[in-house]
Amino acid sequence: MQSKLPNLGVSIFSQMTALANEHQALNLSQGFPEFDTPEALKNKLNLYSAQGFNQYSPSSGVPALQQQIADLVLRKYALTISPEASVTVTSGATEALYVAIQALVSPDDEVIVFDPAYDSYQPAIELAGGKAVHIALTAPNYQIDWQQVANAITNKTKAIIINSPHNPSTKTLKQTDINALKLLLEEHDLYLISDEVYEHICFDGATHLSALGDDALFARSFVVSSFGKTFHCTGWKMGYCVAPEKLMVEFRKIHQYVTFSSFTPAQLALADMLKEQPNHVDELSTFYQHKRDVLSNALANSRFTLLPSEGTYFLLLDYSTISELDDVAFCEYLVKEVGVAAIPLSVFYENAPGDRVIRLCFAKEDATLIAAAEKLCQL
Ligand code: PMP
Ligand code: GLN
Repeated sequence: MQSKLPNLGVSIFSQMTALANEHQALNLSQGFPEFDTPEALKNKLNLYSAQGFNQYSPSSGVPALQQQIADLVLRKYALTISPEASVTVTSGATEALYVAIQALVSPDDEVIVFDPAYDSYQPAIELAGGKAVHIALTAPNYQIDWQQVANAITNKTKAIIINSPHNPSTKTLKQTDINALKLLLEEHDLYLISDEVYEHICFDGATHLSALGDDALFARSFVVSSFGKTFHCTGWKMGYCVAPEKLMVEFRKIHQYVTFSSFTPAQLALADMLKEQPNHVDELSTFYQHKRDVLSNALANSRFTLLPSEGTYFLLLDYSTISELDDVAFCEYLVKEVGVAAIPLSVFYENAPGDRVIRLCFAKEDATLIAAAEKLCQL
């Protein structure tokens, strides 16, 4: 059989987690919380399942959850949307991204992505017959040059994918970025896929600027989020997409034949959590900022250069004063010899710039972060 994705191997996250397990290393590579999802949420899940809510939900989602998502969008971004027409619950943000890309992209269309880019965008674009046009952002600032973006737009460009707060750079888009983005989208009549899975994890008092916070931007956007990040339950694979009705009609045509619907008891449980414990979402930034600071402080005397972490649950370390190895080789060395698993940044690039930077996930118990930092401080 001819491969549809000939250049693709096993994801770096699967590779590094397998290596971490093999070498019994502290796993700060793949992004997932080491601590559990809230007790109340687990209880709700069990309850709904015990009560017999175990069959298909409506394809676009359980109405109570659609409503809670619409309420959250109104509370956070002052945007009123129709829960029935504009919200679809998906099996993780990954499904939402995949479906949005299939809905938008036709053969030969070009989609602009910023490298380092989350690994699921490119294969989804290729499977739609499109071409990803990569714009590389580099350490330490990972700043977008909007003139460079303008220059990359052709008459084949269909969409731009943004991700803020950004995995892996941790950067958050500023108002000047949003303004520049909006101008380009309007001038060239492009769509936006806005990956906002870390929307509730922004540090140092910064507020997340969502595509949902701007009517003109939202009019041409698919906005994607993930309950896995927000409620520490990445293994549930629960996410959603918000889009204007016209776009959502096309999204749903594909969603219904990718998964049809997502795990019903989890949808009911998440709807209750959003309603009954709104503080959880509001406190997430503080919760993770503490973790970031625990790890940063514990690494303060190391020979790594810590890059500023603006959001997400990642911290980037520049190791150029420590080793000449490339980042893949350095991560292999770390996991095998030092006992800490990290992610090399070059794997998120089409053409890696040669920065010597690795990513650590700090969604871990404080003791794990301190233990990992102790090992890294020995280098
Ligand atoms: N986008 C980004 C930027 C992510 O970091 C992740 C998860 N690590 C996803 C999408 C996928 O989210 P989910 O697990 O809900 O599919
Ligand atoms: N998004 C997570 C990360 O960046 C991993 C998700 C996955 O393993 N597919 O580490």
